Amino acid sequence: MKEIINAQRNFFNTHATKDIQFRRAQLKKLQQALEQNEKLLHEAIYKDFKKSEFDNYSTELSLLYKDIKEAQKMIYKWARKESVPTGILNFPASSYIIPEPLGVSLVIGAWNYPYQLSFAPAIAAIAAGNTVILKPSELPTNTAAAMAKIVKENFDPAFFTVVEGGVEETQELLKQKFDKIFFTGSTTVGKIVYKAAAENLTPVTLELGGKSPAIVTENCNLKVSVKRLVWGKFLNSGQTCIAPDYVLVHNSIEQRFLNQLKIEIESQHFAFENDNFLQIINNKNFDRLVKMLDPQKIFYGGETNRESRYIQPTVMQNVNFDDVVMQEEIFGPILPVITYETIEEAIVKVNSLPKPLSCYVFTKSNAIKKKVLKEISFGGGAINETVMHITNENLPFGGVGFSGIGNYHGEAGFKAFTHYKSIMDKPTWFDPFIKYYPHTNFRLKLMRWIMKL
Ligand code: NAD
Repeated sequence: MKEIINAQRNFFNTHATKDIQFRRAQLKKLQQALEQNEKLLHEAIYKDFKKSEFDNYSTELSLLYKDIKEAQKMIYKWARKESVPTGILNFPASSYIIPEPLGVSLVIGAWNYPYQLSFAPAIAAIAAGNTVILKPSELPTNTAAAMAKIVKENFDPAFFTVVEGGVEETQELLKQKFDKIFFTGSTTVGKIVYKAAAENLTPVTLELGGKSPAIVTENCNLKVSVKRLVWGKFLNSGQTCIAPDYVLVHNSIEQRFLNQLKIEIESQHFAFENDNFLQIINNKNFDRLVKMLDPQKIFYGGETNRESRYIQPTVMQNVNFDDVVMQEEIFGPILPVITYETIEEAIVKVNSLPKPLSCYVFTKSNAIKKKVLKEISFGGGAINETVMHITNENLPFGGVGFSGIGNYHGEAGFKAFTHYKSIMDKPTWFDPFIKYYPHTNFRLKLMRWIMKL
């Protein structure tokens, strides 16, 4: 690992990555490599957890193509020197900010959207002029191998390489010195990464998880709200960091809401056989999820099959905050429904848990929308929608508190891998005496006058 990092550091020190044309060429190469290997990528992810070609394209590859296109288009603007005002105190001078790449970056990916969560930060790192060591999650073994193969065939490892491996390899990597660490995964491992980064004062971006609530008010458009909720919850079999984890519904519409959930789940044909629903990633997660199912509280679904790692889309009712299902992020196809009486009560309940990655509100009321946005702190979210905010590259994506540090996507991704170097540039033809010794009363008076200007 030391060798790889040294090679990347030496390459970074040639300053080749500072050239915008170089960065654009690498991005183009990645785009072509992904396009040419779509079949390999589809087959690998299907083997790992039966992700369909439709889902692989719509939730992984298409977003990466979009990211690359955006970076290629915007890179000159993002990377250019920005002039800023200087002020009378320093007259005559100019001031500007130079975006510079941080250096050798480490990207650690999560398994649930393996291509997207590995390559999207890598695209941002490359656009910003860094070298990249990518450590994808080891859980989907075939996708990790496919990514390693594609990168190896197309890139000089001194610029961009994939290190395969699990916890041990990640910990070994974390002992090394990087200029940036970008981690996507659980809050527990996020803390391990943060501690390791502190040793070298390495800047981090931590994209973590949490329990993202969806609040459904009595005056929402029930049909559309439930349709969007069901889609966002059961997409990827609920293994989505920004999936609505649980629903808080106004008690006056509970029964109508539950009935509509059942109708909508059935109409979206979530079935393993027709590739409309994928597997739970491994037995460990399957067993963890099954423990959350309380037979007394299942309103819909509840069927499980360990051999095929299948859990039917399941709705639980009469849930309270002490239930097992409310003790940790679910990260699977189980939707607990909790009722509330007043919006104040719902907000207090959400705020009793750590700050979530997302929050969703389904309402026609502007007052409630404003109140929720003002009184609940969360990473990002949507009104009358779920998940889709992630697809707008103009919205920085990231968490707050236990759901993460920093953000990315679009220009925010470029910024995550960039240091902004501030420069004051002074000519020598004029050198006012005021700041120099010896200090006199006159100079102090002059100073007071100038500082007030
Ligand atoms: P994880 O934390 O178990 O693993 C993430 C990465 O960390 C993997 O590459 C893994 O090899 C490594 N790792 C695991 N244990 C480690 C250890 N002890 N020391 C060092 N490295 C270790 O997370 P996961 O199971 O892959 O993903 C699920 C979590 O990620 C959920 O909490 C989810 O919400 C979150 N997530 C967040 C985002 C986001 O963008 N914010 C996206 C996807 C997933």
